[in-house]
Amino acid sequence: MSKSSAVAERGRKDPELQTLLNDICAGYRLSDEDALRLFSVNDREVWEIARAADERRERVVGNRVTYVLNQNINVTNYCINSCGFCGFSRKPGNEGGYYYTLDQIQQKAAIAKQRKVTEICTVSGLHPDFDAGFYRDIIAAIRAGAPGVHIHASNPMEVAYAARQSSISTREVLEMLKEAGLGSMCGTAAEILVDDIRRVICPGKISTAEWIRIIKEAHRLGIRTTATIMYGHCETVQDKVRHLAILRDIQDETGGFTEFVPLSFIHMNTPLYRSGIARAGATGREDLLMIAVTRLFLDTINHIQVSWVKTGTKMAQLGLLAGADDLGGTMFEESISKGAGAKNTDYLDPREMERIVADIGRPLLQRDTLYNLI
Ligand code: SF4
Repeated sequence: MSKSSAVAERGRKDPELQTLLNDICAGYRLSDEDALRLFSVNDREVWEIARAADERRERVVGNRVTYVLNQNINVTNYCINSCGFCGFSRKPGNEGGYYYTLDQIQQKAAIAKQRKVTEICTVSGLHPDFDAGFYRDIIAAIRAGAPGVHIHASNPMEVAYAARQSSISTREVLEMLKEAGLGSMCGTAAEILVDDIRRVICPGKISTAEWIRIIKEAHRLGIRTTATIMYGHCETVQDKVRHLAILRDIQDETGGFTEFVPLSFIHMNTPLYRSGIARAGATGREDLLMIAVTRLFLDTINHIQVSWVKTGTKMAQLGLLAGADDLGGTMFEESISKGAGAKNTDYLDPREMERIVADIGRPLLQRDTLYNLI
């Protein structure tokens, strides 16, 4: 094939893809094979997928773009685990280790409330001395410092760890946290829900089955959670699709996910990248398709968030044109992505969000954690 005919070939619209996108627009639910097909597109048809996802977004949530005024409190970076993608954790005695006392946590929460945040997030390293009672005390300290502020905290790994440390069930841990003031739980520690990959990137973490079990348990207790994926390291496209299929099945069963947050792998300071196991993060095409394909595939999760912390604000804006409807949090104090090498993660001023969103002709609205407008 000559060079010019090869160019013409790449420029031609793929009729099968067009049919699939038309079917999706008419309400057809994507199969795993369809998602694989969409994730594999690497030419200008990417824009067709983004367009279909953007139209779906408009039908589901309208034109608004939302954000939440929030603050992170990562209580400690001491952690018994050694996940290969983590640049945040430290072992006792390591340089850069830190730990906040309950008094400090309460003070930070009070400062957050003065800043008028509506949400405080807390997930931390798995400190060797933490148990279920201490996790409860962290929630209680935040509630004491910032009464009325929604506490978005913990994740299935922390819940499993707290249960193990205190020899109680995960259900009891969730009940304790809820009683102390937990409003919703993070759907992190999911990474990729494929055990072969988990054994490589986070061998100390709970299995896929355990993650699913604890998430469903939380949903049944009325604790809603986010859903996440961490991609761009050593997973395959098939692994991504298996992960998304698990999330869709859970949502079909419980309806407990508030949103889906794709987390693009920050590689710079991570053992996984330094040892050559992981690649240098997702490409722009992969970031864009992760938003677009999930908007089409996760048809029962209404909100798709772009993580400006992971992708930067320019790619986040493009994500809003490819199916996303939420910019996430303003994030005073962000430590985990920064630890892995991400830049400018501490705070995104709503005025800058406004600029990004106005530039694509959409209104920016403040929401709470559960997507009620404020
Ligand atoms: S990702 Fe979490 S559990 Fe894993 S090493 Fe880092 S802080 Fe510890």
